[in-house]
Amino acid sequence: TTLLDIQDLHARVQDKDILKGLNLTVNAGTVHAIMGPNGAGKSTLSKVLAGAADYEVTGGRVLLAGKDLLALNPEARAAAGVFMGFQYPVEIPGVSNMMFLKAAVNAQRKQRGEPELEAADFLAWVRHRVKQMKMDPAMLSRGVNEGFSGGEKKRNEILQMLVLEPKLMVLDETDSGLDIDALRIVAEGINAMRSPERATVLVTHYQRLLDYVQPDHVHVLAGGRIIKSGGPELARELEEKGYGWLQAA
Ligand code: ADP
Ligand code: MG
Ligand code: MG
Repeated sequence: TTLLDIQDLHARVQDKDILKGLNLTVNAGTVHAIMGPNGAGKSTLSKVLAGAADYEVTGGRVLLAGKDLLALNPEARAAAGVFMGFQYPVEIPGVSNMMFLKAAVNAQRKQRGEPELEAADFLAWVRHRVKQMKMDPAMLSRGVNEGFSGGEKKRNEILQMLVLEPKLMVLDETDSGLDIDALRIVAEGINAMRSPERATVLVTHYQRLLDYVQPDHVHVLAGGRIIKSGGPELARELEEKGYGWLQAA
């Protein structure tokens, strides 16, 4: 079944048209990789899906499980199961990771009309996920991303994802700046979330992450639209040949 359906999406930032008729269909149970040159609009696509301010949709539709995603505010999108991981995770000094995770989980439950989790249940759940990500439990009492290294931030982002258990995961260059151990852990987190009900859209520049997370589909985003789609072999071809041969076509 179709989880995410993007139809002829047009979007602009500061009066500049960035997405120009983007189409993408993501079925539940699949992992899609989106690759493409710098400035193609990959991060813009993530921001538009998240409902970030400053990104104006000027045409097209985005359906999540058949419902109009663009009609929802960012909080409602999160409650509907959309998780965004960003290239530059924010730091929230003074708010501990534990507090942040609890607030995020309960905010989503509230949006869905579900009761708050019991404190003990929540703690057990988070500890299970921390262990799964091979993280130091001490990080739970640190400020969100405060003084974290690039790798720690990414690991933390994946922890947030595992705790929230979203339906659709959109990860924008989650692999950038990761050493090989952190890359493996991030990949394990993504793979742990693979299920017939969920789907992942991975924005990445490199084949490297795709050695650990096997995508079902690979797309090239250039000039604001998807200009080529294929299987995992497309990523390897791009690694070898770059993007020039596609744009020329
Ligand atoms: P990618 O992630 O594929 O490298 P982006 O979506 O970040 O590409 O950017 C696409 C284009 O939109 C670029 O030309 C970029 O300069 C422009 N852009 C993105 N965000 C903004 C913004 N907040 N303000 C102005 N221009 C932006
Ligand atoms: Mg479509
Ligand atoms: Mg980007």
